[in-house]
Amino acid sequence: MNVKRRQIWSLIVLAVLLFTTALPGGAFAKGAPHYSDDEVAYGEEGMVATAHPAATEIGAEVLRKGGTAMDAAIAIQLALNVAEPMMSGIGGGGFMMVYEAEEDDVSIIDSRERAPAGAEPDMFLDENGEVIPFSERHITGDAVGVPGTLKGLMTAYDEWGTRPFNQLINPAIKLAHKGVEVNSVLAEAIDDNQYELSRSAAKDVFLPGGEPLQEGDKLVQKDLADTFKLIRKDGLDAFYGGEIGQALADTVQDFGGTMTSDDLENYQLTIDEPVTGTYRGYEIASMPPPSSGGLTVLQMLKMLEGFDLSEYDVKSPEKYHLMAEAMHLAYADRNAYIGDTQFVDVPMEGMLNEEYLAERASLIEMGQANENVEPGDPWDYQDGELDTAVSSDDDREIGETTHFSVADKWGNHVSYTTTIEQVFGSGIMVPEYGFMLNNELTDFNAVPGGPNQVEPDKRPMSSMTPTMVFKDGEPYLSLGSPGGPTIITSVFQTLVNVIDYDMPLKDAIEEPRIYSASYPQIRWEDGIPDDVRATMEDWGHQWQSSPGEIGNVQAVRVLEDGSYEGAADSSRAGTAIGLDKTAGKNK
Ligand code: GLU
Repeated sequence: MNVKRRQIWSLIVLAVLLFTTALPGGAFAKGAPHYSDDEVAYGEEGMVATAHPAATEIGAEVLRKGGTAMDAAIAIQLALNVAEPMMSGIGGGGFMMVYEAEEDDVSIIDSRERAPAGAEPDMFLDENGEVIPFSERHITGDAVGVPGTLKGLMTAYDEWGTRPFNQLINPAIKLAHKGVEVNSVLAEAIDDNQYELSRSAAKDVFLPGGEPLQEGDKLVQKDLADTFKLIRKDGLDAFYGGEIGQALADTVQDFGGTMTSDDLENYQLTIDEPVTGTYRGYEIASMPPPSSGGLTVLQMLKMLEGFDLSEYDVKSPEKYHLMAEAMHLAYADRNAYIGDTQFVDVPMEGMLNEEYLAERASLIEMGQANENVEPGDPWDYQDGELDTAVSSDDDREIGETTHFSVADKWGNHVSYTTTIEQVFGSGIMVPEYGFMLNNELTDFNAVPGGPNQVEPDKRPMSSMTPTMVFKDGEPYLSLGSPGGPTIITSVFQTLVNVIDYDMPLKDAIEEPRIYSASYPQIRWEDGIPDDVRATMEDWGHQWQSSPGEIGNVQAVRVLEDGSYEGAADSSRAGTAIGLDKTAGKNK
């Protein structure tokens, strides 16, 4: 970034700061066009955007010391395990998408959790064959998938690590020892999950003396620090086949699950190629199965390519209508066809076939919601035949996880969505080791049958959508979000805001989002005008009675001069830090 440009940006930031501080409360609320300047950053030499300031700073420090985006991503995930322990960590799984500049190649380390050998298709049914309610089944040992995150990190390190591993794990150890200040997001998460946390060692960490930690308190995690020290000393063996894995399996069994240390030793991750497509000339690389994210986002974009979205105001009924209709069509296919491709044939080629998507898009009518959306037949557009049944809906609740994006001065990018599923996962902590266990197996359909039924060693269908966009063959945008099935629509809408509406990255993230997987209910964020919603009701849509937050997008964009723009969503305490040539960072 040249000096003149930096001065202009400083003036803009100053103006925004002066303006926001003059506003009465709620200046950072969704829908308000004013943000904390920590949530946006610019830099020539690197960018980090995560949902927690401590993790962003740790990632930026790795970059300042000469590490790559991949080094930084490893350090960030370990730091997030400490600072955002309810969202991700070594007891979970995730998808790390990496763009390697030297190879001009995108690959994904897929460390999604797998079902243990003892898992059964009907394990979430009670003795009468009824589905065990989500509130009960997500906190059992059966809900816990064999975690992949640590193997994912170590695989990334072996593949791309350039800094001593100590430098990547030590900041997390220090943070766990010293303590991290409980912010409002963590305080609320603890408060909301007191029952879940009270059933395991988690109570001593998050509810000391029986009382939930409050905003401003210090969260000290000595056991977690010791676990990380053991990993620093013994590497993966400490976990997969070692004492941590044994304690983990014992804990799962204490809560009624079948996991054994063999399941951990047998855990295999995959290195995947992204699913790809184009949208208005941009190339998009996104997450393939077992995630439904990439296929669904590409389907929605392609269906809307035939409409000139930017002709309609960003808050117009036409725009939201087109989006909701595309969502309904794409989610119908998602629920019918997607599962773990190591177990089921997913008609990926057919689902992305342009003729097929044009046929699907022809079901969208302006001014009238389509009440009867059925899945299409993508098998008509590729070899093979329909061999998967339509899966049934169940009562799964929307989870939360975390997404971060990092870029370095060599042009490498990482887009990483990582999870333990629900907030605090299963609510189960491995005693003396200090980390939370996921409940990822509740991402399977509870009812047997269909592509996403439970099977041993299988990965449950995910919605996580780490995505990268390329312009003229060069990286342009890296983004993702938490939010269970809403993830896909958060990524989709951010892409549309950037590509169709030409918005600055932060505005594209803050623009109110909607989510609607099937006719007629629409979830919505504050800021969508009443008259717009009324018009859409006339067209047959229904809005949920009150707005709520949807997703939490972090993103990095490459500007025309090759420098980076980073942005973190205001719905958590996220921050972005950019690095520049002179000072090592821009603030
Ligand atoms: N379990 C979710 C998925 O894989 C991620 C957690 C969330 O954000 O809901 O789609």
